[in-house]
Amino acid sequence: MKRYVIFLTLIITATTPGNCQEKIDSLMPVRGFCISAPRPAELESFITFIKEELAPRKVNTLILRVDFNFRFESHPELSDSIALSNGEVKKLVKVCRDARIKIIPQINLLGHQSWAGRTGNLLRVYPQFDETPRVKMPEKYVWPNPDKLYCKSYCPLHPAVHDIVFDLVDELCDVFEAGAFHAGMDEVFYIGEDQCPRCSGRDKAELFAGEVTLIRNHLALKNRRLWIWGDRLIDGKTTGMGEWEASFNNTYRAVDMIPKDVMICDWHYEKAEQSAVFFAMKGLSVVTCPYNNKASAMAQVNDMVRFRASSSEVMSGRFSGIVQTVWSGAGQFIDNYYGRKKERGENSTVNCFRAVFNEISRLEK
Ligand SMILES: [Zn+2]
Repeated sequence: MKRYVIFLTLIITATTPGNCQEKIDSLMPVRGFCISAPRPAELESFITFIKEELAPRKVNTLILRVDFNFRFESHPELSDSIALSNGEVKKLVKVCRDARIKIIPQINLLGHQSWAGRTGNLLRVYPQFDETPRVKMPEKYVWPNPDKLYCKSYCPLHPAVHDIVFDLVDELCDVFEAGAFHAGMDEVFYIGEDQCPRCSGRDKAELFAGEVTLIRNHLALKNRRLWIWGDRLIDGKTTGMGEWEASFNNTYRAVDMIPKDVMICDWHYEKAEQSAVFFAMKGLSVVTCPYNNKASAMAQVNDMVRFRASSSEVMSGRFSGIVQTVWSGAGQFIDNYYGRKKERGENSTVNCFRAVFNEISRLEK
């Protein structure tokens, strides 16, 4: 009986088109693309891009940085003035479902609550959540600056902050019909500040891990998985990776404190750092994230395949794939992609995107 089932299975898998899908799924399970969610006016061209460019390249994961670009019913006070409606999001959901692409919506939690001289919606509407209310937003932003202001953070120990942000997280996951949520959590420079009445004196790694765990547990109630950027979990001094793609502010010990089912997005844009191995050896699943450097991105694709092939069976599956990141808006990227605007230099995001997926396709063959 068992032999008969195996025989039948062989016939079916050998004759269905799903077979080649399975090959690429075992080579590179996550084939991701991360970009800002389109503004309403950019929606149609973005949908065309999904159909004509992402789907044929077998992209299966789309991380959409939504933040406040949605008309939230739970907190309309936090929505951008021009934001995606429920119906517009459903168009994205449909086109991605048809193309077998999973959407993972993102809101930046903890850090990235301001950008340059502009405060983000959460702290603008609820300034009481600000970890550093003493730091005033500058007229003209420059880096470095005396306040070491890169981006504002919310205070993870403020008793009211999670009631609000979890409403947003739940609403966004519901409308996107998402099984995973990306909370950002990169480049958190302000955490456990001495002047914060709740956080002062606390261990920054414990604060960071506490926030990750709280968000993870909230998502787990609805069987949703948390994805985050990995930089706060790497020791920037010992590794020489610096204070951006790794941590100089003592958060890195959190790597041993967070739940093991959090997916780590390990971004390195200049070099194919080998830190995916570090995360996998800690028991965490990891995707490597290139940006605009074609040579290092191609090395990252090949590293990921090699890590999967040369690791123990236990660890191999944690090397989950590649996510190409784009840091311009969706509209601008698409204009660059179709040559309506010119992205300068060899190291363009468009070139990198093409190179990453060409390389995956080449390795598949
Ligand atoms: Zn605080």
